[in-house]
Amino acid sequence: MRKYVIMGVQGSGKGTQSELLAADLDIVHISVGDIFRWNVQNHTKIGAQVRRVMAAGELVGDDLVESVVQSRLTGHDWNFGFIIDGFPRNRRQAEFFLESYDIDAIITLDLPDSEVRRRVLNRRLCADCGINYNLIDDSPAVPGQCDACRGELTTREDDTEEALAVRLKTYHEKTNPVLELFGRKEYVVTADARPAPEVVQAEIRRKLSLPPQKQQESQENASA
Ligand code: ADP
Ligand code: ZN
Repeated sequence: MRKYVIMGVQGSGKGTQSELLAADLDIVHISVGDIFRWNVQNHTKIGAQVRRVMAAGELVGDDLVESVVQSRLTGHDWNFGFIIDGFPRNRRQAEFFLESYDIDAIITLDLPDSEVRRRVLNRRLCADCGINYNLIDDSPAVPGQCDACRGELTTREDDTEEALAVRLKTYHEKTNPVLELFGRKEYVVTADARPAPEVVQAEIRRKLSLPPQKQQESQENASA
């Protein structure tokens, strides 16, 4: 059983790295932001409570976040473990989490703020299948349309200059102290988030002493 937390500023690739690791290790990826976005899209009661807060780039209240995380984790489809992204984001959430779960490692993705702005403001998301695009180096063949499913590409409501400024400020003020707290108790590994996703993934694995990605192994074998 493996239990990981992944942390990093907006646009650092937490979702992408979590998915790569989760698929390979057969663990569950839990994204608190995705859970809230799902609730907003599906007009649930939780969605109504968080929509404005999220759009403004502010943090959802701790009580609500903790109950969402707890119910997701007691949902029990993580027999081989989990990787959680977007939680904890402040000291209180971290203390709540450490009381209940024994974490194997905290993965942190490092990205300078200048690169964050460039990535986040150019990020587009397929409304149908959820694939991420980046208009700088990963733009779709047809503008505004998903290559995989032809769905419409949308911008996250909180990927605006204003909301991003709030999110970054909150990250530095509230989430950085969580890293200090974890650093004292748990195993923290840091990866440079600037290179391509596969390179970042390889660094994470090396630092966690995990074998290289299965897919990469077979590619290497094929070219050997
Ligand atoms: P990002 O890391 O890019 O800001 P996420 O998708 O992780 O985006 O989260 C989107 C939004 O969801 C946050 O800005 C916040 O409003 C809310 N949210 C997610 N996780 C938490 C959390 N642990 N505590 C409070 N609010 C949260
Ligand atoms: Zn799509």
